[in-house]
Amino acid sequence: MSRSVSASSATWNPESSEGIYRLKNWGDGYFRISEKGEVTVDLTDAENGATKEFSLSSMVSGLEKEGIQTPVLLRFPSLLRSRLEKIHLGFEKAIEVAGYKNVYRGVFPIKVNQRAEVIEEMAGAAAKYHYGLEVGSRTELTVALAHLADPKAFLICNGYKDEAYIRLALSGLKAGLQVVIVVEMPGELKTIMKVATEMKIVPVLGLRLRLGLEATGRWGSTSGDKGLFGLNTSQILEVVDFLREEGALDCLQMLHYHQGSQIAGLSGVRSAAKEAARVFAELKREGAAMAFMNTGGGLAVDYDGSQTVSSNSMNYEVEEYCAAVVDSLKEILDRENVEHPVIVTECGRGVAAHYSVLVFNILEVSQFDESQTPDELPADSDDLLAEMQRQFRSISEENARTVVTSLASLRKEARNRFADGELTLRECGLADRFFYGAQRLAKGAAVENHAMAALQPTIGQSDFLYANFSVFQSLPDHWALGQFFPVIPLRRLDEQPTRQGVIADLTCDSDGKIKTYIHPKDESDFLPVHELEPGENYLMGAFLVGAYQETLGDMHNLFGLTHVASVENVAGETVFSKIVRGDSSDDVLEFLEYDLEGLREKFGVLTEKAAERGLISSEEGESMNSEYDKSLKDYTYLRKS
Ligand SMILES: *Cc1c(COP(=O)(O)O)cnc(C)c1O
Repeated sequence: MSRSVSASSATWNPESSEGIYRLKNWGDGYFRISEKGEVTVDLTDAENGATKEFSLSSMVSGLEKEGIQTPVLLRFPSLLRSRLEKIHLGFEKAIEVAGYKNVYRGVFPIKVNQRAEVIEEMAGAAAKYHYGLEVGSRTELTVALAHLADPKAFLICNGYKDEAYIRLALSGLKAGLQVVIVVEMPGELKTIMKVATEMKIVPVLGLRLRLGLEATGRWGSTSGDKGLFGLNTSQILEVVDFLREEGALDCLQMLHYHQGSQIAGLSGVRSAAKEAARVFAELKREGAAMAFMNTGGGLAVDYDGSQTVSSNSMNYEVEEYCAAVVDSLKEILDRENVEHPVIVTECGRGVAAHYSVLVFNILEVSQFDESQTPDELPADSDDLLAEMQRQFRSISEENARTVVTSLASLRKEARNRFADGELTLRECGLADRFFYGAQRLAKGAAVENHAMAALQPTIGQSDFLYANFSVFQSLPDHWALGQFFPVIPLRRLDEQPTRQGVIADLTCDSDGKIKTYIHPKDESDFLPVHELEPGENYLMGAFLVGAYQETLGDMHNLFGLTHVASVENVAGETVFSKIVRGDSSDDVLEFLEYDLEGLREKFGVLTEKAAERGLISSEEGESMNSEYDKSLKDYTYLRKS
């Protein structure tokens, strides 16, 4: 057979790439591949509502002209608006279909993405949909108070609260905002009532219910008996009795629960809503002025596009989620003969995930080069190598797997004999090449058959793509929790990818890599990639990173925040509506309490001494000092050379 068993690229087209990278599923209609083989995003003009597709790699070129290089986080406010609208309209429709007799009012939990632009965008949406904000700390509350003005939008105060937090929340209520303080711990209640009395205001209270039923999923353990948050049945009764004694039972108006994040299936959503509706009805019967049902977050995102109940996916549509909540509440409330409350949700991930894409470039590829398999063995080579060469030459599509297995064991033998001093390092290297060469040929056949899983090599035998970003900083949930994010090349998608790669970040840490990749069927340890051309700026995108990734990052190896650029469709053109430069080295060092002047001085002493000792000239010393200074001001990531 020929040396290359990969299929002819002639039959490959952008749809083939959409298939192997499963873009149609996780792209959710926003991301697709253009005729030219580039990943595009659909952006809607906020002024005239027209939608157009734009190439991500063209955006990167545009940013380079502004002096912004990769890695860069692209943000698409239009997707944030679109997702928020989708959820809002989903609830409106479910309410209409079910004949539910009240309205929907969403709130966005600030912790999901605290960056100013996100909150500004949310506050903007509030105008249209009375969308509100949820906060979990006093600092988040300071943000929410300054962004909400709509008296119909909710400002939900969760989290543990001290007097200062409570006082600030009640100021918002006094100033006309719809602030609800959710009681998470029985102990909080006394303080809330004391501060409210001092401020001469009647608070609006919520109760956080600890659901009895366990939720599932990666983040699902926040409910049930093991959950850390919320009140159990007896604590709820304590609160009710306390309020009754105080003559303040009508302050209690909201019931809140949060099942946990990324709820993959709807049965849990339904049972939680039903359980909460029962408690709601009982509270009403106890005499509380129950008017609001807050079902928390949990709406999932299909990160791997598998449309399953796996923890990286979901097997329902947004509209089905909305219907599950509305129908379940209605069923129980009607049975209990209780008036329908306003439905509040705190969807975070479901609103924000699509919003951001991290774009990074590949710095270098370490690959096995087929041509390195020698045609001639050096004279006096060991017989083992001659045998490996013979087997390598015999490889065909039919026997590929057998030959790879056999060469794997011969290679192992070579390693052992090297250890015993019988083979030289060069001979051992040749053994590697025959093995990798066979494996690559076998892999080519597999790519053609779309059966990559069947012949997947183990790590160390696939290409390593060294990428200009840090998993710890930019994809913290992948590093810490193994959460899946779709990562794919941004261009050349009209060409067949002929290699399989593993993406390693800049940290050289064994955790500093992407461990699972998108695959036509499930997930894979490898990503189909193209053979890089010399000097090519191969761009990759990590998608669906708008929720939880931006502010959890860790400065491993002192790689800091990336540049951020917001992109809007303005009259059919891309406009960078906001550019925020990422951390420079001095930003990161200052954060870690280094004295920058002190660092400069110490380096200055080093060069001065070196000049005195005659190791360098004083001019060299000067230029080293200015290089050091320049380095402190530079982006923490690598520059393209
Ligand atoms: C984190 C959190 C949310 C958001 O959850 P998602 O799964 O992102 O929708 C909502 N409510 C509370 C109380 C939270 O802690």
